Amino acid sequence: MDDGTRMPVVHDALQLIADGITELMGFEVAVINILDEDDGRLVTVAVAGNDDARELLLGARQRTSSIEAEVARSDPWGMFRFVPAERATDEQLAISWVPEIDVVDGPDAWDPNDFLFAPLYGDDGNIVGTLSIDVPTDGRRPDHAKRAVLNKYAAQTGQAVLTEVARRRLEEQVRLATAARKIVRDVSSELTVERIMEVSQSAISSGLSAVGLWIHTFDEDGEGRTAMYSNAGTDVRMPPELARMSRAAGELLWRAQEVAIIGHDRPTPPIISADQEALVFELLDGLGVSSLLFVPLGAGRECLGTLVLTRRSSDAEWSSVETSTALDIGHDLGRALLNARNFEREQQLVSELRELDTYKSQLISTVAHELKNPLTSILGHVEMLESATDMPPRTQRSVGSIERGAVRMERVIEDMLMLAKVGDPANALIAAPVEMGRLVEDALDLVSLTASRKGLAVIYDPPTEPVVALGDSSDLDQVCANLISNAVKYTPDGRAVTVRLDRRGRDVILTVSDEGLGISDADQQHLFEEFFRSSNPEAVAQPGTGLGLTIANRIVMRHDGRIEVESELGKGTTFRVILPAASVPV
Ligand code: ADP
Repeated sequence: MDDGTRMPVVHDALQLIADGITELMGFEVAVINILDEDDGRLVTVAVAGNDDARELLLGARQRTSSIEAEVARSDPWGMFRFVPAERATDEQLAISWVPEIDVVDGPDAWDPNDFLFAPLYGDDGNIVGTLSIDVPTDGRRPDHAKRAVLNKYAAQTGQAVLTEVARRRLEEQVRLATAARKIVRDVSSELTVERIMEVSQSAISSGLSAVGLWIHTFDEDGEGRTAMYSNAGTDVRMPPELARMSRAAGELLWRAQEVAIIGHDRPTPPIISADQEALVFELLDGLGVSSLLFVPLGAGRECLGTLVLTRRSSDAEWSSVETSTALDIGHDLGRALLNARNFEREQQLVSELRELDTYKSQLISTVAHELKNPLTSILGHVEMLESATDMPPRTQRSVGSIERGAVRMERVIEDMLMLAKVGDPANALIAAPVEMGRLVEDALDLVSLTASRKGLAVIYDPPTEPVVALGDSSDLDQVCANLISNAVKYTPDGRAVTVRLDRRGRDVILTVSDEGLGISDADQQHLFEEFFRSSNPEAVAQPGTGLGLTIANRIVMRHDGRIEVESELGKGTTFRVILPAASVPV
């Protein structure tokens, strides 16, 4: 900003004016200073005429107070001010370029220490720049006629300087607002309203030059919860009347995609009544601020809250760059609030579902335990009855039926207990390296009798290296047993069942393929649901509980693995279990 090159177009205009004065008005030097609002000093941005002067003065800075002091000791010459050499102060001389000139004779002779300048004022009456001229080529202080023309130059310079100051202000606003917007845009990855506020609050208030800020978030159910986040912390109470007003006004503004400014000496915006405005003024006065920018926050059609930014009476007016950026921020923050709200809702739902799951597991496990004891007693008595030698054949058949039913019930109960165990979130997995080859061989042993009775070819090529998964050995044993026994169970006599065990990268893969009944696409959708049994009558004819695959799937998921199925009705089925491998072999 201080190198005189930041706004070349305007600086060129100022340079042209300075050049014009030197060429047309007969001065050797013309200097234009402009206010740098960042440090409140005047910076020399254009020097015309003398190269030495340009070299020395360009970029030099001077306090506005020193110019005010010069004004105080000067003679008014229209817009110009004249300080004759005899009144020059050391301070002014120290920062001036004093030319070496031949002084002419006469009462109107120009003294090298004469100071002729025009202070240029902004709308607020503060100095925003100066135009100073030096070394008249005729060696004389300007007469009345010359001063009148110089006045015109001063007025023109004043306009150009004001334009430059306004442009600089705008540029600064755009820079700040853009920086704020960038931060707010990034905030949509934050998952709680508190974090959103933490990250964006100071960026918004400094980016939009606000002294205070608060955000009012709406709840879905009417006026329910009104959370306020302000510069003063989260512990801010909003009077209910204001909260209601904020909500109604926010919704109107969001629909119109507008912001509103409420402040003393402004017309009441149409979104509130005069009474409501009086309430707002009360609040503003209490906070020591004079105006507020009211911004709706929303996403899609829904208004989710309001953002309020405040300013004091000594601050600048809200500019159009600021109000339009505020509306953009309303969109960005709105999206972030919606994300956070959805995330909160999702978390709530997950925890409710988890509670429900725990309850279900407990219920299943309690019922299964309760059934288990009487069933054990039934089976004990059946066994006793079977050993009786004097039973008539009809009674023997009945006892046989009771036993088969009881055994089936026992199986269902065992499966229910297992399901409750693997489905209980409270029952964490304790993982250790498990050699899968051993589990596969155990499962094959279990089905060998049935397989050979059905004349099935069971093909298994043990892997050359041990294949080790990371998990719970008895859980994984259950998975192998279920898939292999299903393959044997649902494959007609004389066909083949193939089992493979592989290690691929970080995965252990167990593949069980059969040439059995196959599973229809529709049935595949429900395969892992509790108590699901196929709609295929041939499959239903086989004994089963419909819990085996549910249990297997839960176990595999608990191990961070997955089960894949490929099947074609009448051709056969392949189940593939992918489990994380243990990094160290057992
Ligand atoms: P169950 O075998 O006790 O009925 P599962 O949960 O193990 O219960 O299997 C669910 C259903 O999926 C079975 O009833 C059967 O219809 C079908 N199914 C499972 N494995 C196979 C397979 N290898 N071939 C054909 N159908 C199968």
